[in-house]
This record gives sequence, C-alpha cells and structure tokens, in this order.
Amino acid sequence: MRIAIAGGTVITPLDIFEGADILIDDGKVAAVGPGLADSDVARTIDAGGRIVAPGYIDVHTHGSAGHDTMDATREAVEGMATFFAAHGVTSFCPTTLTQAHEDIMASVCAVYECQEKPIEGGAQPLGVHLEGPYIEAGKKGAQPEEHVRNASVGDYKDLFSLGNIRLITFAPEIEQNKELIGFARSRGAAAVVGHSAATYEQMVEAVNLGINHATHTFNQMEGLHHRKPGTVGGVLLLREIYAEFIADGVHLHPAVVDMIVRLKGPEKALLITDAISGAGMPDGDYELGGQKIVVKEGAVRLADGTLAGSALTMDQAVRNVRRFTGRPLSECIQMATLTPARSIGVADRKGSLERGKDADVVILDQDLNVASTMVMGEVVYQA
Ligand SMILES: [Zn+2]
Repeated sequence: MRIAIAGGTVITPLDIFEGADILIDDGKVAAVGPGLADSDVARTIDAGGRIVAPGYIDVHTHGSAGHDTMDATREAVEGMATFFAAHGVTSFCPTTLTQAHEDIMASVCAVYECQEKPIEGGAQPLGVHLEGPYIEAGKKGAQPEEHVRNASVGDYKDLFSLGNIRLITFAPEIEQNKELIGFARSRGAAAVVGHSAATYEQMVEAVNLGINHATHTFNQMEGLHHRKPGTVGGVLLLREIYAEFIADGVHLHPAVVDMIVRLKGPEKALLITDAISGAGMPDGDYELGGQKIVVKEGAVRLADGTLAGSALTMDQAVRNVRRFTGRPLSECIQMATLTPARSIGVADRKGSLERGKDADVVILDQDLNVASTMVMGEVVYQA
C-alpha cells in the first residue's frame, strides 16, 4: 500500500527539506521531495508544517512503564515497546543487567521471540544490549556486585547463540575479557567499554582489538585526569568509538554533554535513555535486579544514593541535548537516529529517511513533542 506524509519539514537527518512529502510503499520509504502526495496513494497524512524525522533508536534501555527486560517475558517487551512509541522511538535494544547466566539467557530468548513474531503497535526490538556481567566491580554502579564476574567462553557463546546480541558492555582491561572483544565483533555486535577502570593506554589497546562503542560516557568509567586520561579520555579521543551519553541533566552536567558532543561530533555521539521500569511511572519505589530503587523528581537512585539508570525518554533527551548544546536541530536528531543506527550496524535499513529504508517516522511539533509515530509504515502512536 502506498501512503504519503505531506507538507512537513523533513529532517532526514543529513538533509532538511521544507514543505516536502514522503512517499511510503509497502513499509519502506519510496521517495522524499515536493509534490509526491499528488500521486496515486491510498492515504495521505497531513504533517501540517510539522517536523518529520526518522524514528528514534534507543540502544540502551532496561525498561519503562513498570516493565523490565529482566522480566524475560513478551509482555514486558511489548509494554516497553508501547511506551517508547509514545516518545518517538521506533526501535530499541532491550538491555539486560548483571545477573545469573540463566536469567540473562531467559531475557535474550524473550527478546528473540519478539523479533521472530513482531510486536504489533509499538517500537520494534532490534536485538539485545547485554550490560555486564563481565564488568569491573569497582565501577559497578547499580549492577549487583554478587553477579559481577569475568568472561567465560561457554557462557558468552551461549548468549550469542541466537544471533540477536547487538551490543555487549564489559570491562575490556580485564585479561579474561579480552577475547570477547573480537568474538563480539565477529558476531556483528558492538564491543562496548563500560563499567570499566581502563587506563588510557588500556583503551588504546582495547580499540586496537576492536572496542568500538562506549556505555554512558563518564558514568561508571575511570575519569579524566590531566596526567591520567583514563577510560573517559580514551572514549572522547579515540575516533573509532561511538559514545553513548545520558542527557537527563542528572547523570551529566549540561556543559559536559556539550563537551562530549563537541569532541565526538554528532556522527559519533549518541543519545540513550538507560531508562528503568520506573520511567513513565509516578515517583515512588521500584525494583532493579533485586535491589530497591527510588524514582524521585526525574532521578533514579539506590538506597545509598547511587544513580540506577534514568527515568528519561528519547524525546526528552533530544529536547535536552538541543538546550544543553545549542546545536542545529538536524544534529540533535542525528544523535538519536542515524548515529545509533550506525553504531549497531543497522544503518542499511534504519536511522534515516532515504529511499529503500524502513518507513520508521516520527512527526514532531516545533517544541519537539511527539505528535505521531510510525513503524514500517504503520501508525503506532498518535497524540
Ligand atoms: Zn544501563
């Protein structure tokens, strides 16, 4: 079926077309340009001068709306998918926690089932982000320490056996974890430094072995010192690395967000939420991997005050990064669309509004509030 989205400011995001239309055929973008809506289409959606952008892609999110990836159920992934669609997200990587092997495996299987039999009316999971368990205990943050361990070949081969691991976050400076770098890359996954105490020199070595992505830059990694550039120095300076960051105004000072974007550029810096089940829920007590967490005034913390993920949404992240950095809107959208798509190797079909790519679209008002969200040419959310 051919449909058109007519009369919007289309941000592809590398180009901007004022008063343009998008022609969608069988769930794919067929053309972008003026006057397309006049052609033979079954339905025309009037964008009414609003912003038309690629759907947002969140590669690091644990949960939302009371659901958690570690619930390991279709219902949980569906609940997240519906909530995310209302915030402009069209695809996401459900993210696991440092837990027992069989519990992580169960979550990987649940996500796999949602990929095999797609979710209706929501964002689509693109595969799993494994956060841990092979991390540095001293940088655990809210990852439960009793489950922190070094890589075991049998276990990670098991986790990768279904072929749907998109990213794995671990501490690459730990000797037993080093082989995992090449293994993950050979399976098409991003090899991600995070919850790590790597020195700058260890970061150089890790990048030479294939590390190409960083989990929530600055948070739970060895900081920047002028004589010890640390993990952060490596993430900011080594060009191979895609750098995730949490633009909630809590995890990072707005000036530090600006610093990350200036150093990495919109082609290597990407917005994530790191949201947890309490995102989209009232302030109160929730649970993360068997630990009590408190959601209060936009921040999520363990009882001892440690930040434990966020209550951020992708639409808010885009609004925040624009405010924090003053960068052009197209760059802010790029950091939520094309850059995350490239970072996980799906830019051949996701992340931009170009002929032949999936028709994953978000329509935004001038304040970047979500008016409607479309996945593969189907409207899944309308404000
Ligand atoms: Zn996380």
